[in-house]
Amino acid sequence: MKLIVIGGNPAGLSAASAVRKTHPDWDLIVYEMGEYVSYGSCGLPYYISGVVESRDKLMTLTPSILQNTRNISVKLFHKVISVDFTKKLVKVLDLKKNKDFEDNYDYLVITTGAEPKRMVIEHPNLFYIHTIPDADRIKSVVKEKKFKSGVLIGSGYIGLEMVEAYKDLGVEDLTLIGPRLIYTSESQDFIRAELEKQNIRIILSQYVKNIEKIDEEHLKVNLKDESITTEFVQVSIGVVPNTSIFEGTPLEMEKGAIIVDEFMRTNIDNVYAAGDCVVSFHNILKKKIFLPLAPAANKQGRIAGQMIASDGKNVDSFPGIVGTSLWKVFDLYCGRTGITKEQGEQMGYEVGTTFIKTNEVAHYYPNISGNFGEKMSVLLVYDVNSHKLLGGEITSPSQIGAKKIDVLATALAAEMKIEDLQKLDLGYQPAFSPVWDPLLVAANQARKELK
Ligand SMILES: Cc1cc2nc3c(=O)[nH]c(=O)nc-3n(C[C@H](O)[C@H](O)[C@H](O)COP(=O)(O)OP(=O)(O)OC[C@H]3O[C@@H](n4cnc5c(N)ncnc54)[C@H](O)[C@@H]3O)c2cc1C
Repeated sequence: MKLIVIGGNPAGLSAASAVRKTHPDWDLIVYEMGEYVSYGSCGLPYYISGVVESRDKLMTLTPSILQNTRNISVKLFHKVISVDFTKKLVKVLDLKKNKDFEDNYDYLVITTGAEPKRMVIEHPNLFYIHTIPDADRIKSVVKEKKFKSGVLIGSGYIGLEMVEAYKDLGVEDLTLIGPRLIYTSESQDFIRAELEKQNIRIILSQYVKNIEKIDEEHLKVNLKDESITTEFVQVSIGVVPNTSIFEGTPLEMEKGAIIVDEFMRTNIDNVYAAGDCVVSFHNILKKKIFLPLAPAANKQGRIAGQMIASDGKNVDSFPGIVGTSLWKVFDLYCGRTGITKEQGEQMGYEVGTTFIKTNEVAHYYPNISGNFGEKMSVLLVYDVNSHKLLGGEITSPSQIGAKKIDVLATALAAEMKIEDLQKLDLGYQPAFSPVWDPLLVAANQARKELK
């Protein structure tokens, strides 16, 4: 049997590796259009800033390790340009030789990921950050040209993490433009305060009309009320599924994201898809959405591989997502899970929210930064009628506090109510939390507000 995987990052390699565990003799081929496989895109901002010293440290597996230890054949610089699902053939362009050829498969796994939304203009000082070559380019151009000013368009987690990277590279005058600072609630104030502490100019609720080229070294960002002249612009305004090669084929997609079931099956026999190019079922929103993040990509890739390896028998399905994510803004660590107040209201819930600020660790013990009495925030979102938890947000001066978002994610998975959260036996030690854990403080407060 022969498996072809399109895309050699977490989802694709998880699929190929899962098949290899069961079938030592199958032909496993991964076509990857880029120069690298198996790298942590999530670490790119830290490679740019220098926290991660070399790009090699981002890579988990290389093509030679994959060949030698798993007998998986990885073809770099090979772009799949079309698929004939009836004949079970992929057409591949060898980008080095500029020659195309066809290859047949018994099973196909599509893990082509996502790609950044782009502006119409091109300019040497206009950046996107998605791949290692993007990171290399940003790092070398910013260092070589010694930029002093830059504008980041897009205030999602990538924009927020990159603003820190540019600051670490020595850019002093930075402006961040976006609709909001990720959260829709008062949790936003913590991000705003952190950015202001770092002298980042923040422009919210204003959409960028366009970007103009002034000359080879300058760009102008035009907003409704003002124009900003700058040396470079980074655009991170979201991503779209990288699935244009399937347009016009029988593969079912929704706004470009491939529709899969809980076993990562597409609508075509023997064709699976996983990771940033698919929709996932959101267990709180109760619908399929496009929310591309690494943990789901790894799990889904493995499930696709297990399904193929076992001919669909005894495989645990993908349980869906609850929308958990973490990000970092300079010295602030943030997380969220579930849904927001606004999303809950759209679903017809009578939504209550409780917001608290409390010590991250015991008041007499220094936190990771050596500071005493630093506060973290917790927001709980719940249904006023059933008391069911719907979502949560955390901001914290360290990773310890922010990672508590996983307790809320677990509570969502277990469909807990506020009173269930109150009863949790959470651990205590002065270096980790106050004796009343911040989540319990929030749950107690929510209970009072519900009475
Ligand atoms: C800067 C940055 C920071 C991030 N931080 C986080 C984070 O902190 N937490 C988190 O959960 N997620 C984060 N993510 C998202 C995370 O990286 C993705 O969810 C994850 O990489 C998805 O894996 P994937 O295998 O589905 O897709 P990808 O990693 O995008 O891999 C798809 C691969 O397919 C290849 N490909 C595409 N089309 C073809 C074709 N036609 N032929 C051959 N090859 C093709 C691409 O070159 C690519 O290598 C971050 C992403 C970026 C860019």
